[in-house]
Amino acid sequence: MKIQAIQTGTVSIHKAQQEGKGHGASRQLNMLLDRAWTNPLPIYAWVIEHPQGLILVDTGETAQAARPGYFPRWHPYFILAVRAHVRPEEEIGPQLNKLGISPADVRTVVMTHLHTDHAGGLRYFPKSEILVARGEYNRAAGFKGRLNGYPSNRWPSWFNPTSIRFMTMRPEPFGPFGESLKVTRAGDVTIIPTPGHTPAHVSVVVQDGNDRVFLAGDVSYTQALMLRQRVDGVSPDEALARETLGKVRDFVLEQPTVYVTAHDPESGVRLSKREVVKVP
Ligand SMILES: [Zn+2]
Repeated sequence: MKIQAIQTGTVSIHKAQQEGKGHGASRQLNMLLDRAWTNPLPIYAWVIEHPQGLILVDTGETAQAARPGYFPRWHPYFILAVRAHVRPEEEIGPQLNKLGISPADVRTVVMTHLHTDHAGGLRYFPKSEILVARGEYNRAAGFKGRLNGYPSNRWPSWFNPTSIRFMTMRPEPFGPFGESLKVTRAGDVTIIPTPGHTPAHVSVVVQDGNDRVFLAGDVSYTQALMLRQRVDGVSPDEALARETLGKVRDFVLEQPTVYVTAHDPESGVRLSKREVVKVP
């Protein structure tokens, strides 16, 4: 199965977002007020060429993000703490075309969460089934969503995603994860709950023959931070984020796994070489 990284531009954030500083409310405040910036980090989405159809994980950022007024001017995060750079040709639509893939042929889009740099390319997929965790959608929609840092007023008007429903009555455990949902009949693409960065964040695990690929969204900003179990500056519930990081580390060390995140500069290379996580 071919799995490719698509980089939709870059984003710079405060270092205290990448790796949280302090605890409780001060961790999120430190993230906002930090003066140290990261280098421009990639914004990755992933396309899986599955025999049952094309599956996309996240949609990257839009070139509109750099336009003044695209984000609410009153929201401190967008004023103080983020700088995205996306050229129009770096958006997911044109990049899929360049790979010989028509966005209209994407069968399923799985959203790890709805932050702007994952949801910025939604407009290319009006006919695809878009899967979003119910809790994530509720947190992101409407004006409350805008307060929570999701520019939901920029979603396409047709956006009406399908809820990811984990079977709470008959949960299907997946390694250390208490529940899971298969996206394909072959059972080789699985959505698992990885709450932390956002309370209903999910990840996608692809079993490709002997290779296991973990598409982690923003579970951590880098592989090293996951291995070091460092909670980011965004996660509202530090204990929950730590619990997820623990499960993810157990999972990727228990069996050879390629672990890639949306903003790890090494993600693209690791995926193309199918480089598995090494015990630190
Ligand atoms: Zn995020």
